[in-house]
Amino acid sequence: MKPAPFEYVAARSADDVVAALADGRTEVLAGGQSLVLEMNYRTRRPARLVDINRVPGFDTVEAIGDTVRIGPLVRHQAFESGAVPGQLGALLHRVVRHIAHPPIRTRGTMLGSLAYAHPAAEWPAVITALGAELDLVGAGGRRTVAAGDFFLAPFRTARRPDELLAEVRLPVLPAGTVIGFAEHRRTHASFAQLAVIAAVTLADGRVSSASIGLVNAADRPVRARAAEAALLGRPLDDPAVAAAARAAAEQDADPGPQPYTDLAYQRHTVAVLTRRALDQARTEG
Ligand SMILES: Cc1cc2nc3c(=O)[nH]c(=O)nc-3n(C[C@H](O)[C@H](O)[C@H](O)COP(=O)(O)OP(=O)(O)OC[C@H]3O[C@@H](n4cnc5c(N)ncnc54)[C@H](O)[C@@H]3O)c2cc1C
Repeated sequence: MKPAPFEYVAARSADDVVAALADGRTEVLAGGQSLVLEMNYRTRRPARLVDINRVPGFDTVEAIGDTVRIGPLVRHQAFESGAVPGQLGALLHRVVRHIAHPPIRTRGTMLGSLAYAHPAAEWPAVITALGAELDLVGAGGRRTVAAGDFFLAPFRTARRPDELLAEVRLPVLPAGTVIGFAEHRRTHASFAQLAVIAAVTLADGRVSSASIGLVNAADRPVRARAAEAALLGRPLDDPAVAAAARAAAEQDADPGPQPYTDLAYQRHTVAVLTRRALDQARTEG
C-alpha cells in the first residue's frame, strides 16, 4: 500500500525542525525504518513530515568528559563501526548486532528507536539501565529527561508532539566494568522476545556497582534494581549470579500477555538470560 498524502519539509537546521514541529501535527523523519512502514500500512497518517537527514551536525557522536553525546541522526550502524570507544562502545557493539539486519541498521537511528519506543527494542533498555539523559527541544525551549522517566508505555514517551529528541547522553563505563548481553528471538532478524543487558563494575574482586536492563519484560524498559542489589558487594560468581537471575525474574520483570508464550515462561526466560548475560560479563569481560 502507499502512504496517505502528506506534506514534506526538508530541514537544514535544528531551528527548521523546531519550527516545523510547532504545529503539533508534524512527525520527524529520521531513518524511516519504522515510520515509513507504518505510513505504508496507513496505521500512521501524519499531515506533514520534517526530514532531518540533511541537518549538519545531527550525526555526531561526541565524548565529553565522562559522557558520550549521541545526536539524532546517528545510525545503528555507527555502533558497529566503533563510533564509541571503551567498554561503553563494546557494550553498544554487542547489542547493535541484534537489531534487525544490516540494511535497516544503515538507515535506522538510535534516537529514532528511542522516540518510537517499541517495547521489544534494545536501545530503550540500554539507556534505562545505564541511567542516561535525553534532551528534548521544542518551541518552549530545551529540557532534560532521565531515561527512567522517558518511557511511559509501549510506543508512548514523555516527548511532546512539538519536540525534537535532540540528544541522548550516556555515561562512560568506569574502569573495571565487564559487560554482557543475552537475547531470545524467534528468527535472526526478529525483534527480541526478551533480552538482558548487564554492565558490572568490579573493585577488588567484588561488585561495586551494576546496571542491568530488561527488554520486553514489562510495559516499558526495566532497570532491574533487585537483580543489581543481589550482586552488590559480592564476587561475580555462581551464587551471586543465581540470586540476581532469580531477583530479575521474580521482582524486576513484570511481563504481560504475549503471543506464543505465557507469563511463567517469560519469567523463566528472564532468569535464564540474566544468568547468560552475567556469565558472559564474567568470562568475556
Ligand atoms: C524488519 C525490521 C526489523 C527490526 N528489528 C528491530 C530490532 O530487532 N530491534 C530494534 O530496536 N528495532 C528494530 N527495528 C526498528 C529499527 O530499529 C528502526 O530503525 C527504529 O525503530 C526507528 O528508527 P528510525 O531512525 O528508522 O526512525 P523513524 O522510522 O524515522 O521514526 C520512528 C518514530 O520516531 C520519531 N522520531 C524519529 N527520530 C526522532 C527524533 N530525533 N525526535 C523526535 N521524534 C523522532 C518519528 O517521528 C517516528 O514517529 C526493525 C525494523 C524493521 C523494519
